[in-house]
Amino acid sequence: MPTDYANLVDGEMMTTESWVDVVNPATEEVIGRVPACGKEELDRAVAAARKAFKSWRKMSMEERREVVLKISETIKDNLDELMRLLTSEQGKPHHQAKGELLGASGMAKAQSTLSLDEEVTEDSDKRLSRTRRVPVGVVGGIVPWNFPVSMAVQKIVPALLSGCTIVLKPSPFTPLATLRLAELIKDVVPAGTVNIITGHDELGPLITEHPDIDKITFTGSTATGKKIMEGASKDLKRITLELGGNDASIVLPDVDVEKVAEQLFWSSFMNAGQVCIAAKRVYIHEDIYDALSQAIADFAKTMKVGDGAQQGTAVGPIQNKKQYERVLELIQDAKDNGYKFLVGGEEGDPTGSGYYVPITILDNPPEDARIVAEEQFGPVMPLMKFATEDEAIARANASEYGLAGAVWTKDADKGVAIAEQLETGTVWVNEFMQLSPFSPFGGHKQSGFGAEYGKEGLLEFTYPQVITVKRDAAV
Ligand code: NAD
Repeated sequence: MPTDYANLVDGEMMTTESWVDVVNPATEEVIGRVPACGKEELDRAVAAARKAFKSWRKMSMEERREVVLKISETIKDNLDELMRLLTSEQGKPHHQAKGELLGASGMAKAQSTLSLDEEVTEDSDKRLSRTRRVPVGVVGGIVPWNFPVSMAVQKIVPALLSGCTIVLKPSPFTPLATLRLAELIKDVVPAGTVNIITGHDELGPLITEHPDIDKITFTGSTATGKKIMEGASKDLKRITLELGGNDASIVLPDVDVEKVAEQLFWSSFMNAGQVCIAAKRVYIHEDIYDALSQAIADFAKTMKVGDGAQQGTAVGPIQNKKQYERVLELIQDAKDNGYKFLVGGEEGDPTGSGYYVPITILDNPPEDARIVAEEQFGPVMPLMKFATEDEAIARANASEYGLAGAVWTKDADKGVAIAEQLETGTVWVNEFMQLSPFSPFGGHKQSGFGAEYGKEGLLEFTYPQVITVKRDAAV
C-alpha cells in the first residue's frame, strides 16, 4: 500500500484531493503518493512565503545561521530513514544515497559560515557610500530527480541565509525524501520561510510566471532552463540556472593505468551516470588507449547492476521510464551504426521489471555519434582515442555545454595548463565531482546562468543596494 506524503505550506503539512504517484525504479511499483498542486495551492504557498519574508528579512545573520544548522543536523539525525526512502524513489545504491544526504548536510553546515558583509565603496570628505546586500524576496526553487535532496537543500540554504523565503518544487519523480525532510524541519524553520509543494511538470511554469515570486533558482535540463528564462523574462525575475552538461575527461599518457581506471569508471557511473557532472566523454591518449580501456572494461565487469536497496549493488536503475527509454534509444543508435562495445550492448531483459540498463562502454566511437554528442545521462561511457593535447582540447570544447571537465596526468602543471583552455565552469585535475561549499559552481555556454555555492552563489539571492550620504551637504 503506497504511503501518502504531505506538502509543507505556512508551517503546516497539507494535502490535496488529487495526487501524483511515485514509482520505485528498481521494481516499477508505486511506493507513495504526493499532492498534485495547482495554481490555488501555489498561491497559498507564495502568500505564506511573502508574509514570512517581512519578518525573516529582518533576522540577523546569526539567527538565520541557527536555522540552517538545524536543517543540517536534522538530515544527519534521520540519515538511515532518509537514505532508504531516497534509494527507493531514486534508485541509487544505499551508500550513494547516504553520500548525497551527508553531502547536503555538510554543504549546509559549511555554507552557514558565509556572510553578506557591507562594503564601504567611498569614504571621503564629500560622502560616505556603502553597498549592502538585501534579499531578493520570495524565491521559487525547482529541482530535478538525480540528486533530489541535495539539490533541494542547495536551494533552501542560500535562500534562508540571504533573508529570502522559498517555495520549492521537487521533481514529480522524486519528491518523497524531500517531503519527509519537510515534515522533519516543520518546526525548525519559521512558518512560511520554507514551503515545499509538489505537482506534475505543469506546476513548474506556474512558479516561473507567478507575479509574486521574485527569483527562480532552477536545476534541470537545458531545454527546461530555456523555458524558465523565457517565463521569467515577463517581469524580469532574477534567475539562476544549473543545467545539463557533456563533460569531457582528458587522460594523458603519463598516468598509472590501473590506478586511474577505477576512478574514471566512477566518474562516469556514479548514480548510474545520471549526474550533470559525470564524465560523459573520455579522451584517452593513443599510447595508453588499449591498456586503459581494457583496465576500465575489466573493472566494469566486476560491478553489479541492480536494486540499490540490495547489498553489493554498484549501479542502480535509471530513475524513470522516459529517461530509461532515451538511454536505450542512444545505445540502439550506437548498435545500428556498428560502433564497437567494450562492455554492454547485449540485449536486456524486456520482461523483467525495473529500469535497468547494463553498464555500457564504447570503443572509440566517432565524435558525431549521438551517444557522444548528446548528454546520455545513463550508465554509458564512450572512450575515444586522441593523438595531441591540442586535438583533445578542441574536441572537448566542441560542445554547446560547458559545465565541468577533468584532466588526468602526473604532471599537475600540465594538467592546469590544459584545464585553463577548457570552456567549462569547473575543471578537476586528477579527481572528479568535487564541489566545494566555498567555490562557485556554474556552467559556461548552455550549461547554465549564474552560480551556486560559495559567496557568489549566495549573492545571487540578493540585490546590491548602495546608500550614499553626502557629508558636505548644503541642507
Ligand atoms: P527537467 O528539466 O526535465 O526537470 C527539472 C525540474 O523542472 C522538475 O522539477 C520538473 O518538474 C520541472 N519542469 C519541467 N518542465 C518545466 C517547465 N516548463 N517550467 C518549469 N519547470 C519545469 O530535468 P530532469 O530531467 O529532472 O533532470 C535532468 C537534467 O538536469 C539533466 O539535463 C542534468 O544534466 C540536469 N542537471 C543539472 C545539474 C547542474 O547543477 N547543472 C544538476 C543536476 C541535474
